[in-house]
Amino acid sequence: MTNRLKSFRSAPLWGDLEETVVAGPCSAETQEQTLSTAKALHALGIKIFRAGVWKPRTYPGGFEGVGEVALDWLLEVRSETGMLIGTEVGTAQHVALALEYQLDFIWLGARTTASPFAVSEIADALRGSDITVLVKNPLSPSIDLWKGTLLRLIDAGITRLGVIHRGFDIGTHPHFRNTPLWDQIASFRADAPGIPILLDPSHIAGNRAYIRDFIQLSNLLQYNGLMIESHMDPDHALSDRRQQVTPLQLGELLTEVTHHDEQQLTLLRDELNQIDEKLLLLLSQRRNLSLEIGKVKERHGFEPYQEVQYQQKRQYIQKLAEEYGIPRELSYKLYELIHKDSIDIQKDIL
Ligand code: PEP
Ligand code: MN
Repeated sequence: MTNRLKSFRSAPLWGDLEETVVAGPCSAETQEQTLSTAKALHALGIKIFRAGVWKPRTYPGGFEGVGEVALDWLLEVRSETGMLIGTEVGTAQHVALALEYQLDFIWLGARTTASPFAVSEIADALRGSDITVLVKNPLSPSIDLWKGTLLRLIDAGITRLGVIHRGFDIGTHPHFRNTPLWDQIASFRADAPGIPILLDPSHIAGNRAYIRDFIQLSNLLQYNGLMIESHMDPDHALSDRRQQVTPLQLGELLTEVTHHDEQQLTLLRDELNQIDEKLLLLLSQRRNLSLEIGKVKERHGFEPYQEVQYQQKRQYIQKLAEEYGIPRELSYKLYELIHKDSIDIQKDIL
């Protein structure tokens, strides 16, 4: 089944446009705000405009977008600037309206990609259309949900299909709103090599201070483009305040010369450090448990070291290492060290 994804080759997302930067406010708030932002972005040479019209909010009562009226504002953006225009869809009705207003592109948000029923309805509503469709990664780190969404869209006949990497909501990142999980993206790319991938620094970082680093990194990691939120007055935006930049700031960030220096690896190392921390935490939990097991052994007169147990575990480790693609030597060495430490802990009790 996933072979269909492997062999799929998207048609160019933006037709003849070489452009790869999609920018615009998180939400279209007023006609004036939408048009002035678009014009300022267009003056920078940006040719693809995004604005949220329907906003899926975690809690009720938040700003849920202004709805259909904003589609008229988007049409004005296109007629006044010639920019391509697009918005997020979450239901079949949204799709029907997006097609009726002849938007150039739509995207499925992170909350929608995670819902197969919603995706099926959207795919059905899209059947027969040639609109460009982008799919954000789902909130949870399930690459399968992401791939399933793409397959449903391919089956509906979508030919211009891209994805947006907006990070995963696993709640553990020390600085960012979402965790990038770069390794998941690498495996996604291997499974879907014909699908262009855009980086969305705004929703990964959740903080405008990091947008610069992500733009530089998108070059280093060879993303096919960027989606960045930009608002004329970010601090008073009705959604995603902290992460939006003004068009002026965006212009500066985009024109900064890309130095491919080692400093840019910081964002990647950040995640490596988190993994190391987890490894150490697991090791500490393992040592505590080993101590408890040692106490039970001591009470019942069992030896800390048991040959049969040790050999069985070794085989099991070998099997897991193969499954996870870890060199056998490395897995043995690690296991030896951990096992020996564990025996030492239990011997100390005696
Ligand atoms: C958005 O692009 O404004 C948005 C709601 O994004 P996400 O689906 O990534 O949260
Ligand atoms: Mn947003």
